[in-house]
Amino acid sequence: MTASPEGLPAEVSRRRTFAVISHPDAGKSTLTEALALHARMISEAGAIHGKAGRRSTVSDWMEMEKARGISVSSTALQFNYRAEGAEVDSVINLVDTPGHSDFSEDTYRVLTAVDAAVMLIDAAKGLEPQTLKLFQVCRHRGIPVITVINKWDRPGQAPLELLDEINERIGLTPTPLFLPVGIAGDFRGLLRRGADGAPLEYIHFTRTAGGATIAPEESLTPAQAEAREGEAWTTAVEESELLSATGQDHDQEMFLAGQTSPVIYASAMLNFGVRQLLEALVALAPPPGPRPDVHGGAREITEPFSAVVFKVQAGMDAAHRDRLAFMRIVSGEFERGMVVTHAQTGRPFATKYALTVFGRERNTVDTAYPGDVVGLVNATALAPGHTLFVDKKVEFPPIPSFAPEHFSVLRAESAGKYKQFRKAIDQLDSEGVVQVLRNDIRGDASPVLAAVGPMQFEVVTARMLTEFNVETRMEHLPYTLARRTDAASADELGRQRGVEVFTRSDGALLALFSDKWRLQYIEKEFPKLTLEPLVATA
Ligand code: GDP
Repeated sequence: MTASPEGLPAEVSRRRTFAVISHPDAGKSTLTEALALHARMISEAGAIHGKAGRRSTVSDWMEMEKARGISVSSTALQFNYRAEGAEVDSVINLVDTPGHSDFSEDTYRVLTAVDAAVMLIDAAKGLEPQTLKLFQVCRHRGIPVITVINKWDRPGQAPLELLDEINERIGLTPTPLFLPVGIAGDFRGLLRRGADGAPLEYIHFTRTAGGATIAPEESLTPAQAEAREGEAWTTAVEESELLSATGQDHDQEMFLAGQTSPVIYASAMLNFGVRQLLEALVALAPPPGPRPDVHGGAREITEPFSAVVFKVQAGMDAAHRDRLAFMRIVSGEFERGMVVTHAQTGRPFATKYALTVFGRERNTVDTAYPGDVVGLVNATALAPGHTLFVDKKVEFPPIPSFAPEHFSVLRAESAGKYKQFRKAIDQLDSEGVVQVLRNDIRGDASPVLAAVGPMQFEVVTARMLTEFNVETRMEHLPYTLARRTDAASADELGRQRGVEVFTRSDGALLALFSDKWRLQYIEKEFPKLTLEPLVATA
């Protein structure tokens, strides 16, 4: 053992595992680079993606992955960070939510693997749709959220306006830890607020060329700040007082309960506010804790090793048909090579090949602790939601499937391939690549695939061909909304125009609707029918 039994709680308490939730272009990649820069993992921002050519690098990779028929990686970046005044490094696990056009069920599943989320908002745009959807998942799972208002170096809204928007649209009370000094577009520094909103210090930032290195910080007293910044400072002080008057000061319990969100104004591009985010993560975000099991108990972090699989990625290497299963460690110490039990089959699994993956970077993992994310190679039986353990048996609850918004019929081009087609569908279904719906009218040969994002369909078509050698045809269906129903309601629903009822492979009955007006009309006409929203997004 590399850590003594007393060592494990210490390893766990210095860990923070989080994800960034944001809308495409809010600056997630830029923030990730900036965090890594502050962790001194890399010497210049841009080393992860190559900043100037980043767009093309990233999309090339996506094309390549798509061509091989896999979903774009969700991966974890691990780095050490020494917080102010701390005697040991914190270990930060940033679990990447796949972004951009590849929005999929995986994006949600990542949130089952983290203990906190950073909600990244573009100061000029405010709350955007993808952020809202992901936020709902955080709320559903009780994940505390730290808010970062990004791109403050560009003209945008007034600072308090953005806070009102958060309050009004999602009912989360924003409690700024810092307020910007200087309006959006004239970002000079941050006012650090005390527990009662009183200004504690002024952190003045100096720009560096292209934001490629850490922005030098200077700490000034409130009096010095007023002398130096004049009205920009006094405005920030007044705003801070206004917030305190409405009770918008940080409260750790309310934050952990998901009722308030500490806010930091930042510019990921200039590296302003990035260190403050790291400090907040270490000081406020919860360390990994016990996880509920299926029997209503919980697995404590100090119990023997256990982990939950939250993502499976297949076919990264077409020649080897490899499968990577990403697990989040829940309890105990992981050592590469240990033989673990797969709770769903009861079978042993040797963890000979264990990796961390970030972008194209892969490294072997020898030891890992609760909160860490490890990719297991060739873990063919593992699917999202599955449990691995040693010694003391445990099974974690399955990951809920999220409300699909895209629906397509899939058929094999050639009837002769039906057997392979059926096998492939079952395989992709069990991996959680898409949800599979069937009804008697459409029959077994033309199942309906349901997805959170359309990229999931592309993955199915490509994998059908490369892995199972079945050419398929996909036909988009005009449904946009699903509700859970029951057998008693199914007949009446089946008679309605613009509605179709299906059985999902887990046995749930789902009614699909063309649009929300159709649904609202039916709810009004037939108030007794069972129509429940699916998890999180609907
Ligand atoms: P992602 O899609 O969320 O990963 O966003 P990116 O990190 O790719 O950023 C989208 C665009 O916004 C890029 O052109 C970035 O250079 C730019 N950007 C990101 N952060 C900032 C910021 O703090 N200030 C400014 N002015 N631009 C930013």
